Amino acid sequence: MPIEVLSPSVAAKIAAGEVVERPASVVKELVENALDAQATDIRIEIREGGRRLIRVADNGVGIPRAEVEVAFERHATSKLSSADDLDKIATLGFRGEALPSIAAVSQITLLTRATGEDVGTLLRLDGGEQLERQSRGATQGTIVTVENLFYNTPARRKFLRTARTEAGHIHTYVTRAAMAFPERRFKLINDGRPVFQSTGTGKLLDVLIEVYGLDVARRLIPLSGSADEHRESTGSAGRVSGYVSPPSLHRSNRSQIDLLVNGRWIQDRSLTYAIGEAYRTLLPKGRHPIALVCITLDPAEIDVNVHPAKTEVRFRDSRGVFAAVQRAVRAAVVEQAPVPHLEQWSHHTGTSDWERPSSADRRAHRQPVLPIDSPADAELGDAESRTEASGELPPLRVVGQIAQAYIIAEGPAGMFLIDQHAAHERILYDQLTREGGDGAASQAVLDPVPVELTGPQLEALEAGEAVLGHLGFAVEPFGAQTVLVRAVPEVLKGRDPAAALAGILDELSAGSQAHRAGIEQAREERIIASICKQGAVRAGQTLSQAEMQALVRDLEASRAPRTCPHGRPTMIHLSASQLEREFGRR
Ligand code: ADP
Ligand code: MG
Repeated sequence: MPIEVLSPSVAAKIAAGEVVERPASVVKELVENALDAQATDIRIEIREGGRRLIRVADNGVGIPRAEVEVAFERHATSKLSSADDLDKIATLGFRGEALPSIAAVSQITLLTRATGEDVGTLLRLDGGEQLERQSRGATQGTIVTVENLFYNTPARRKFLRTARTEAGHIHTYVTRAAMAFPERRFKLINDGRPVFQSTGTGKLLDVLIEVYGLDVARRLIPLSGSADEHRESTGSAGRVSGYVSPPSLHRSNRSQIDLLVNGRWIQDRSLTYAIGEAYRTLLPKGRHPIALVCITLDPAEIDVNVHPAKTEVRFRDSRGVFAAVQRAVRAAVVEQAPVPHLEQWSHHTGTSDWERPSSADRRAHRQPVLPIDSPADAELGDAESRTEASGELPPLRVVGQIAQAYIIAEGPAGMFLIDQHAAHERILYDQLTREGGDGAASQAVLDPVPVELTGPQLEALEAGEAVLGHLGFAVEPFGAQTVLVRAVPEVLKGRDPAAALAGILDELSAGSQAHRAGIEQAREERIIASICKQGAVRAGQTLSQAEMQALVRDLEASRAPRTCPHGRPTMIHLSASQLEREFGRR
């Protein structure tokens, strides 16, 4: 065949394929237009999963009479005027492709009235060809009706799934838009039935209640939303906010991990991974958190012009964003996870806040010894544990030790059962991360012994060498498979240096399978946590009253006294009121 330029209608269909993959893409483009038009009220109506009809009505600024036709021309947009604008896009749309693309593969009707105009305009197109244009009375805003999507592209139409599945995709998109814009009102109507609605209060949590239901939403933990120092110092000022699930709440897939960048829902495998990493060791294998992570940054820091669907972005400082997300989520999960209560603890329904790690982990942490089943008002207990979960520890009086593993202490609000190993891990972690800034305190090994390492251990050593050195290890080669440990972090004093190193390397090599190259942040944190594990007092060790008191004092001084660096609880609280209930005094 000779080379020929495609006819405009064929070219339009090809181009449309990139923007309009399925009915949900149409909804997305139309809702984005409504949002860009400052609409506060957006109503989406679909029939037969959107194949038969998609209608998006908004109360935005409308399209001026004179511009109604040009809006359907390719590369026609009111959102960009020069190439420079591409570097700082603040609107959701900018490519001027959606309306022509949708029009090319459907029958579309536009009814719009712009601000300041007193009559509306109606325009009808079929496969991109204009059929009708007339003046019409209309309220301010825009209504776009798309009928018989893909009627003229049978190949695409064939790939559509059932109405239910397509409606599901649309539902998912609309909930994401509502989460991204809590101050706007969204309503989705499927075959005449309202299936989703947000109230536009401006509070993200209100939207999350609509999306996940009250029971789930109330358990979500807010991200603190502070810009971290690194990003401030590099000037790429970003903010991470949103909500994440506590470790007790998880899903079988990643579909409830949502990322928003400046109000745009995006797909980003690396950031999704960062969120998952923040739950490392806290969730059972194959389970995933619920998360809505909103990143707000200067539009100049991102490139959204990556793909016609605009669901991918490039970050100028991707490492910085990755670290900020991971840190924000980790901090929220580890520091604000509520202290488990005995009643939560004894429910074996899988809702306990830490009962999730592997059975080996559970054994190591000697769980449960006190299966108290409380029929008492769970609601109340939950509220109590929440208020006590945040903030510092009250001064505690050590009562004694049980099972050579737990310290019993009394506080103003009842009894605390402290896991001596986990608590000590937390203390050492604080010490190491405090010192970590300019190298942690190191202790020379007086009588270095050669240690023979396995292949995986050597690999882990090589990968972690810089961090280990920074944290106080001095290890030198001593033959092909053998090393000499010359110094160890001070937190490991009194431990067998060879065994400690081997233990840390084993843990690192086990973890590194899940680990993706280049994420120093995650690796460093893991190394610190495993050093703490090696250095902490073990279960099975008898502690003197003075030792226990010192440990509790140190714990009181911690910023995150209630969880160990692996995210498990350091203590269980039994409040005075709960004791009263248990004994039937109330
Ligand atoms: P883009 O959104 O990339 O600019 P579109 O093809 O989606 O391209 O829309 C073309 C133009 O039509 C927009 O730039 C905007 O000016 C106008 N427009 C589309 N939908 C609406 C709407 N709901 N309200 C107001 N203006 C709209
Ligand atoms: Mg658009």
